[in-house]
Amino acid sequence: MKTKLLSLWLLVTFFCHSQDEITSQLYETYEAYKETTLDKRRIKYHELQPLLTKLRVDPKFTVQVVGNSIEGRDLSLVSIGRGTTNVFLWSQMHGNEPTATQAIFDIFNFFGSEDFEAEKREILDNLTLHFLPMLNPDGAERFQRRNLLGVDINRDALRLQSPESQTLKKVRDSLNADFGFNLHDQSTYYNAERTEKPATISYLAPAYNYEKDINETRANSMKVIVFMNNILQKYAPGQVGRYNDDFEPRAFGDNIQKWGTSTILIESGGYPGDVEKQEIRKLNYVSILSAIYTIAKENYTNIPLEDYEKIPENDRKLFDLKIENATYELLGKPYVLDIGMNRLEVAIEDSNEFWYSSRIIDQGDLSTYYGYETFDATGYAIKQGKVYPEVVKSLSKIGALENALGLLKKGYTYIRMENIGNKMLKSPVPLHLISKTYEVPELNLEVGTNPTFLLEKDGDLKYAVINGFLIDLNSGSKQRVFEWAFKNAMIYR
Ligand SMILES: [Zn+2]
Repeated sequence: MKTKLLSLWLLVTFFCHSQDEITSQLYETYEAYKETTLDKRRIKYHELQPLLTKLRVDPKFTVQVVGNSIEGRDLSLVSIGRGTTNVFLWSQMHGNEPTATQAIFDIFNFFGSEDFEAEKREILDNLTLHFLPMLNPDGAERFQRRNLLGVDINRDALRLQSPESQTLKKVRDSLNADFGFNLHDQSTYYNAERTEKPATISYLAPAYNYEKDINETRANSMKVIVFMNNILQKYAPGQVGRYNDDFEPRAFGDNIQKWGTSTILIESGGYPGDVEKQEIRKLNYVSILSAIYTIAKENYTNIPLEDYEKIPENDRKLFDLKIENATYELLGKPYVLDIGMNRLEVAIEDSNEFWYSSRIIDQGDLSTYYGYETFDATGYAIKQGKVYPEVVKSLSKIGALENALGLLKKGYTYIRMENIGNKMLKSPVPLHLISKTYEVPELNLEVGTNPTFLLEKDGDLKYAVINGFLIDLNSGSKQRVFEWAFKNAMIYR
């Protein structure tokens, strides 16, 4: 009996090691396959077209237009492989969730290359892979969740009013796929429950009924998820969450599971300092390719099902910046407050760019919450910033950032400008720019307001919070202020 167990153990470690090595190699060689034309998160339909054109002339791939969006954009299905097991991957049914679309084009580069020959043969002999990237191109154009009909495609699996939904159903049915990867992004404010770790990736093996039964189809998706979680623990330890599996009868994941395709929902969340989600994109690439490899080798089948439940649940308890224990004076009395604030992104039309308009999300006892950045302000008093007394003609008068820091140290957080051009959307210096007539309201810490104030200790101003960015006034490090602590201040006309 003991020998049998030992040999089983050896067999398992052998498989794990070889799989581990492949995964490490995928991680280490990633840059060679990264599709560098898609390096910003707000990718558009037109950016994908030259890449699909290249795949059309590559005999390894088959590219078919399988449908159209409401506005007439092509929905393309890219297939590769000769195996009998069909694996179907679709991304971006929500237009503002593009991380996996980028990873799919990295995966195309991987299969288009001449490397990893043995592994690719294993995959392509056993599987046929079908990718439908950017299922909602009209939404992607506007960087919005819903399609042009204003419908959430993920609630249209039964009624099928949207052409994008009809296409997804039609392709699923025509392939009768064995495995399905339903690829999304989630808010960066999700964390693994009761930890400060962001849920960089969250998984779900969707339920196919209210009872949340586990049949073989669903069990297989759970096993593949456990496999992928084990991989991610190496690169983002503790940063994986498990989605609530309440049955949603209108959702695609739940129905595709019901229709007999083992469905794996992947949600790309946040990673510290990874604003464009390029590290998360890489983790998608590594973990999805590894999952495909394990499906091809069928060595996921012995993974214990109960490990699925061990993945921590998703929670939503993160802020971009959390300030703890600051003293705030109201009507002459001091109070101690935690303040949680988020840097909300405002998209710039027809571009891949955005700027930040930050908001206080909550204040009070936030001891059950966490921050990507946390500052203990015990002994610090919150002070209102002042308006610089002179009207400035142009930004060049404020000059270098050091100058702006000098103004902050003197307590100025607003600069009145002679003329703010209409084209200017954000202030590049850590000072809000205001028009000649704008009146700065009295500091009133409140949920929904822009977080802008100074932190004073022992009579000295030590820190500034400008548009939700914490700036150390004595760091003297210009670099740090630009690279991490600060992106933009606001303009008030
Ligand atoms: Zn989504």
